[in-house]
Amino acid sequence: MNNAKLAAKSHPTHQSIVKLSADISFGGTELVTIAGPCTVESREQMHTVAQNLSGKGIQALRGGAYKPRTSPYSFQGMGEGGLEILSEVRSHYNIPVVTEVMSISQIDAVAKHADMLQVGSRNMQNFDLLKALGSVGKPVLLKRGLAATIEEFVMAAEYVLSHGNPNVVLCERGIRSFDNYTRNVLDIGAVAALKQITHLPVIVDPSHAVGKRELVAPVTRAAVACGADGLIIECHPEPEKSVSDARQALSLTEMVNLVESLKPVAASVGRNISTIGVGVEPTPMYCAA
Ligand code: PEP
Ligand code: MN
Repeated sequence: MNNAKLAAKSHPTHQSIVKLSADISFGGTELVTIAGPCTVESREQMHTVAQNLSGKGIQALRGGAYKPRTSPYSFQGMGEGGLEILSEVRSHYNIPVVTEVMSISQIDAVAKHADMLQVGSRNMQNFDLLKALGSVGKPVLLKRGLAATIEEFVMAAEYVLSHGNPNVVLCERGIRSFDNYTRNVLDIGAVAALKQITHLPVIVDPSHAVGKRELVAPVTRAAVACGADGLIIECHPEPEKSVSDARQALSLTEMVNLVESLKPVAASVGRNISTIGVGVEPTPMYCAA
């Protein structure tokens, strides 16, 4: 990886810490889990998600307001309305939020409402977008392209770094293969390799990798055992009703149980799971029955 001037590890213990909020960072001893629906669908949905996940070992929420859909006829996301919902939940529950930015024109709005800007797989080599994210004062979650090599992935991060933003977290989310039993193939070797060749935190998205909810938990445990610094996982109050990626969505209970099951695995690789957020009062109108 000769050309990765900024992303390359300079010595074996060289590790960047990327701050998500005052008390949550990627790359240290805490395992950081981001969870939530594929798409922001309503206020009620996001309040229910926050209420059920906050303080349960999940440190940040996800939810797409701008969605890169295969078909132009599929729901494209709530746009700014979705960002406002994320903002509201973020301040009410004091929990950071991560959401996707698909184009340069969306950067200001996304950066105003979110704590971290996600670049999706389909945009991993949108070089103009990557350059523009270099001047944003918020961390970037860069997902591996559908068929990107490890080198191409690292060089995409290099675009953001070389344009002035040192806060990049890499996300392995599975790559295309001949086999369509799983949606993609989680490249666990890439997680280990990226940890060895770069100083950037590396997280794993098991949901888009396997595409089937019953495979998410075991693959997540493997990712943690392999040394991932964090996770991004899809879940929904009513998984089968998700407007996108329903087949891979966990229920909120499954999500919490999964994090619970990670504790011994995390401990075995020297990671803690923080229960930050405990004690947050639910919004009265969205109290669970
Ligand atoms: C997502 O996170 O919902 C998403 C679209 O992911 P990816 O870009 O990895 O396909
Ligand atoms: Mn999704």
